[in-house]
Amino acid sequence: KVALDRIRKTYGENVVLDDVTLHVRQGEVVSIIGPSGAGKSTFLRCVNLLEVPDSGTVRVGEHVLDAGGRHTDRQLEELRRVAGMVFQSFNLFPHKTVLENVSLAQRRVLGRSKEEADERSRQLIDRVGLAAKYDEHPRRLSGGQQQRIAIARALALDPEVMLFDEPTSALDPEIGLEVLAVMQELAESGMTMMVVTHEIEFARKVGDRLVVMADGGILEEGDPAEVIANPKEDRTRRFLGAVV
Ligand code: ATP
Ligand code: MG
Repeated sequence: KVALDRIRKTYGENVVLDDVTLHVRQGEVVSIIGPSGAGKSTFLRCVNLLEVPDSGTVRVGEHVLDAGGRHTDRQLEELRRVAGMVFQSFNLFPHKTVLENVSLAQRRVLGRSKEEADERSRQLIDRVGLAAKYDEHPRRLSGGQQQRIAIARALALDPEVMLFDEPTSALDPEIGLEVLAVMQELAESGMTMMVVTHEIEFARKVGDRLVVMADGGILEEGDPAEVIANPKEDRTRRFLGAVV
């Protein structure tokens, strides 16, 4: 479903991603952990081409981009659409209502009519448990509610994969649980997901695979419970010791 092959990204002398390869199956939930500066965010950003890799191939479903070769803006836009991204900061439009926040991109990117977009938005807002909030402004919502709207907004573009970059890091733990519950429901519905997180419990319970990144590469990967219980690498052991 998602195939990232030999993804390389450098900033000047700094090799941030050193030919990283990761394939994610349809419906698979891959959690990515690792120390600060490992390249986790950069890797996710390469999947939806917020960062264009220096070289390597990004494939999401039928959409492919060879980063080293020529590519068109159209290819970038398509990959951005099919890879929905949720960030640590929710980035909602403060002066738009919840409904408008979820509808806008559908109209702009998919060309849906206002009626179609609003209808789909209401379904998704209901799904993340915020049916009563269509007409609220984001600042009147808790961080967890805002993040759930950000998830609904990403889902509204009918993505083939959902990318999460530490979606609960900015939230109080109990508020983060609301967001993790929505993510778990999404995972159980069969969505293909890549989740950068410090939530080891989420990775163990919901994730199908755990990938440990360090120094711009994949240190080890495997069944989450197995990697957590018996890390092969000392660095993984030390990292897990620090976060659990
Ligand atoms: P964290 O856990 O702190 O979020 P991370 O694993 O997500 O870390 P990245 O944000 O991907 O790490 O950063 C990896 C490396 O790339 C770091 O050394 C960082 O300084 C560097 N880096 C990231 N973005 C840029 C940029 N726009 N310009 C220059 N260097 C960058
Ligand atoms: Mg990061």
